[in-house]
Amino acid sequence: MKRMTAQDIHINSQIKFLKKKQQNVCFYCKKLLKKDCTKDHYIPLSNGGKNEIENIVLACQKCNCGKANSMPLMSIKDAWNTSLKSNDILRDWE
Ligand SMILES: [Zn+2]
Repeated sequence: MKRMTAQDIHINSQIKFLKKKQQNVCFYCKKLLKKDCTKDHYIPLSNGGKNEIENIVLACQKCNCGKANSMPLMSIKDAWNTSLKSNDILRDWE
């Protein structure tokens, strides 16, 4: 078994934080996140995105793979607003 490093613990707490923030659903398709969820750089590193929590979202395998290195259409701030709004709508429907 692999030993946890300080880096791993840091990543785990990031994922915990993001899961809570995203209400445990994929940032893009809103499907419930499973164990295979991946950390996605909202703005790809290859496009100048930062490797920081502000630029990281959790996505399911399908969305992360499908997105590849394409540039997002809106800023992460707008994307969060949209994301949170749609979660509110979902809640109203329940
Ligand atoms: Zn997804």
